[in-house]
Amino acid sequence: MNLLPAIREDHNPFAIVGFFPGLQRLLIFVRWTSYHCPHCRAVYRRDFWPANVRLGPAEHTCKKCGDAFDDGSREWPELGLAKKLRFLFPPLLIGISGGFLVAAILSLFISPRDENSWPEAGIVSALALIPVIVWCLVRLIWIVRSRHRYQNGGPTMQRSFDIGRPN
Ligand SMILES: [Zn+2]
Repeated sequence: MNLLPAIREDHNPFAIVGFFPGLQRLLIFVRWTSYHCPHCRAVYRRDFWPANVRLGPAEHTCKKCGDAFDDGSREWPELGLAKKLRFLFPPLLIGISGGFLVAAILSLFISPRDENSWPEAGIVSALALIPVIVWCLVRLIWIVRSRHRYQNGGPTMQRSFDIGRPN
């Protein structure tokens, strides 16, 4: 079973304003990715979160033309270690939490030694970790569901390939 991969298009309509001074520069962060059915080019998903690793059964049926295609998602046991890590710790999350951690560490060095800034730094570090912990808990639920789908014979391309249907 060989499914056509979905068509992916990146949209960055405000890229040009980055070259001009002023607040409108912030518009360069408005970007999204659209995913199209390879048969009829209907959009089935838009993502504002870049470089996503998605869990799912891979096979997606287009609502418009009814044809099946590969939407790029895979179930948890099918992912390699790098993709598993990227699913749990996406770059944007690491960037945000990393920023907090750096701020906490810097505050220790900038403030005078006699002032007790350790508790403050501890609180900021804890705040930095909260999004990571919440994120990982939510992701764990997704992983458990994905493993469940995989073990219970959802329509995964890999599996239908392995079994090789008789007809
Ligand atoms: Zn279609």
